[in-house]
Amino acid sequence: MDYITNNPQATLTDGMHLMVDALRMNGVDTIYGVVGIPVTDLARHAQEMGIRYIGFRHEQSAGNAAAISGYLTRKPGICLTVSAPGFLNGLTALAAATINGFPMIQISGSSDRNIIDLQQGDYEGLDQMNVAKPFAKAAYRINRPEDIAVGVARAIRTAVSGRPGGVYLDITTAMLSATMDAQAAQASLFAPVDPAPKQYPCSGSVKRALKLLASAQKPLIIIGKGAAYAQAEVELRTFVERTGIPFLPMSMAKGLLPDDHPQCAASARSLVLGQADVVMLVGARLNWLLTHGKGKKWNPAAQFIQLDIEPEEIDSNRPIAAPVVGDIVSSLDVMIAKMDNFNIHCPQAWRDAIDAVKQTNVAKMQAKLTTLTSPMNYFNALKAVSDVLDGYKDIYVVNEGANTLDDTRNVINMYRPRLRLDCGTWGVMGIGMGYAIAAAVTSGRQVVAIEGDSAFGFSGMEIETICRYRLSVTVVVFNNGGIYRGNDPNLSGGADPSPTSLTPNARYDKLIEAFGGTAYNATTPDELRTALTAALTSHRPALINCVIDPAVGTESGHIGNLNPKTVAPQK
Ligand code: ADP
Ligand code: MG
Repeated sequence: MDYITNNPQATLTDGMHLMVDALRMNGVDTIYGVVGIPVTDLARHAQEMGIRYIGFRHEQSAGNAAAISGYLTRKPGICLTVSAPGFLNGLTALAAATINGFPMIQISGSSDRNIIDLQQGDYEGLDQMNVAKPFAKAAYRINRPEDIAVGVARAIRTAVSGRPGGVYLDITTAMLSATMDAQAAQASLFAPVDPAPKQYPCSGSVKRALKLLASAQKPLIIIGKGAAYAQAEVELRTFVERTGIPFLPMSMAKGLLPDDHPQCAASARSLVLGQADVVMLVGARLNWLLTHGKGKKWNPAAQFIQLDIEPEEIDSNRPIAAPVVGDIVSSLDVMIAKMDNFNIHCPQAWRDAIDAVKQTNVAKMQAKLTTLTSPMNYFNALKAVSDVLDGYKDIYVVNEGANTLDDTRNVINMYRPRLRLDCGTWGVMGIGMGYAIAAAVTSGRQVVAIEGDSAFGFSGMEIETICRYRLSVTVVVFNNGGIYRGNDPNLSGGADPSPTSLTPNARYDKLIEAFGGTAYNATTPDELRTALTAALTSHRPALINCVIDPAVGTESGHIGNLNPKTVAPQK
């Protein structure tokens, strides 16, 4: 009777209770959501039964929280939404999770199928499952309590197996209140066996890859967030250190091996991409973030090895000479076991060339970081942040924005796996507070969110959520008063602010005061250092308004090339 909740003597249970039982049986310990018709009682009951419920102010943040909790824990994060508009608000996060390869399940209440299917106009009526399909790895609907166990199991297996992704699970109002025999309900429950099985690569593919790597004069290993998700840090370190090959971490793979590792080539990125003759991709796609492996950034003669769990990813942009399809830990295990049969090494000349460029670039960056300006710019402000964070190597760093994203990624070193959480594959804004909340909730550890002022606006109201749950989250708003910049003119000469302008001299710190958190305003690197230290020492929710010169900031940060340029002459 353990799983049959509320009243053990009951002979009947209903969809809502059974849904909670099924989630518990599958180890779901947290639900991120926004309640309303028809899922309010579901959340109440889940909480009653010991599932932690974290209530948000907007579904997109709840969805982002679920997505990143999936990335961090390898168990699908659960997002609960109400019908139609709530569902749609959450769908952006579900789509982003799918694009990023993060396992999550968006569970949404939906209205009466009879009315929806005849399009008769219902309260928040929408054919949600069919809307979700193109944005999710899969979409399922549970129409009867009898199907809850299978529906939940299918959602979980789909979310975590192969390349992980977002699954939509529709639960109808009628199903939630439908009853069934309690004994039969209990008997129907199960947890899927081995939902994300190991997948070993075939040995021929491993030999082909090792042979190619052994032939390289200028080998390079690129580590992506797939390797971070796979928790392949131990195997990666062994492989990297035993071969001596330089590595380049993609943004969220920073820290899988520490950024100050002698083989880290991050500060010689242009050199290594431009010259490497054999590139081994480990859980990284040749998508736009790597200019599709083509163009002037790349050595046109480079040959590729690609470790990925998704066979369809291979050759998606550039021919892959040696695909290794399998899960990354298993693939690296086999490669390590076989590597002694091949003479894999890194020629000294290649190491020396990289080290020379690293030295020059580090010195250039150091000069930028230590040049003081008033008001602050991104670099001297980030130097202050980095001075403090170097004393907190276990802290989560959430990061979004344009310049704030690019410059933070380059300046703030990461030393441990999966601690850097950012805009990801879509380069999407709005992940900040959802990611920060879930990182704090799943780990119990501290989080610092480094946010552009515009980026922060997309999820800023979740400051109330952070305060309500008393999470150890410090939000640093890099405030230059605008999207990219704060000093753009209105080209008409009119009184309205320019399209990129936000309120000048805004005091984002005042927001958190409304909810009992601690507010700081920092106008110099020293003030920023002091504020961040105080915030982290307090373990309380805090927001630091970090005043940045409105005149600094590059259009679209490092990806200005993606902006179509207007042909008409600009004033
Ligand atoms: P990044 O943005 O860091 O370059 P991507 O998200 O582009 O990383 O690529 C991650 C890749 O890792 C995806 O192609 C995905 O299929 C793959 N992947 C995810 N999980 C695993 C895993 N457990 N084993 C192998 N590959 C994985
Ligand atoms: Mg800005």
